[in-house]
Amino acid sequence: MKNHIIFFSGGASSFSVVDFVKEKYPNDNVLLIFSDTLWEDGDLYRFVHETADKLELPLVTISTGLTPIQLMFEQHVIFNNRIPNCSKYLKMKVAADYLKKGITPKIEVWRNKQFLKQEDFRIDATLYFGIDFQEAHRSEPIKRNWSPFECQFPLIDYFINNQDVLDKWNIRIPELYLKGFSHNNCGGRCIRGGLAHFKRLKEEMPQVFNELVEQEHYLKLYVSEYHYIKNLEVDGLDDEVKALWHKNLKDCYSDYFYGRAKRPKVYIPTDLVINQYSFLKRHGGAYPLAKYARELNGNTGFTTQEDQFDLKYDVSGCGCFVDFGDKKEGDFFEEENFQLAMAI
Ligand code: SF4
Repeated sequence: MKNHIIFFSGGASSFSVVDFVKEKYPNDNVLLIFSDTLWEDGDLYRFVHETADKLELPLVTISTGLTPIQLMFEQHVIFNNRIPNCSKYLKMKVAADYLKKGITPKIEVWRNKQFLKQEDFRIDATLYFGIDFQEAHRSEPIKRNWSPFECQFPLIDYFINNQDVLDKWNIRIPELYLKGFSHNNCGGRCIRGGLAHFKRLKEEMPQVFNELVEQEHYLKLYVSEYHYIKNLEVDGLDDEVKALWHKNLKDCYSDYFYGRAKRPKVYIPTDLVINQYSFLKRHGGAYPLAKYARELNGNTGFTTQEDQFDLKYDVSGCGCFVDFGDKKEGDFFEEENFQLAMAI
């Protein structure tokens, strides 16, 4: 009996892949794997569970136990389109460790395990990814990085209408698509999103948008102060003192970033603007989400063409699981920068 493992992100395309594999290999061992960032839209869980239940397939959810915001806090860096560490650590590495090395992450939850036809689901497994012909250029890096597993991309070879497959199983499309988002990742907050993506988030889910603006604001302050201490050179200031200051600083913010407090334990002017880090990209550089929010509210002052936003077409978003760049050699998962210490 052959093993088939589908990276099921909760997206409509990966759902079509689930149906494709289920229909093609009805007698084999088919497993759905979902890397949870714990930052997902509530309806995503309804969707992945309903899929597993109606198609009678086993689903394993794995997670480090951290959200992208918490990982930024632990790594003292604010992610953006060019630093997508959440994609690397919370999605790809946790799955690679699980499948390649048999490492069980902090969270491993099984659903419908009774449908798992053999326990050794990793042996000679074929992995499936939900990329289509428009992303065919990603297939070679994926194959290299998931070797020795065989990788398959059914949506490159076959055109499948996602809505037809949803209708076939009578499963409602995830809520974020109905709100106009192009994907169902991280509850619409994706740090790789473009200006149009965040505009939609602000319009459709203002509470989530405002919470994200606030989190970015406090992250900027925390990260700036962390690195200020780290780089401080003063006579008599040794590593031991710096470690104590870092610990005190972390204590001020950790309850906030771990959801145990509404505010950090420090006084911070709420209108402070730092143009240094950001989720958003603009003209190839960083652009603070907080600043964008103020301008969408009309507090701009920008009048030149250069300052205009591409609010319609700059959607962008995460290529989690498939975005390995153009590296020709080596194993992405073993890269030195992939091994950045995770203080968790
Ligand atoms: S979807 Fe975006 S925010 Fe979520 S893990 Fe991927 S890159 Fe990070």
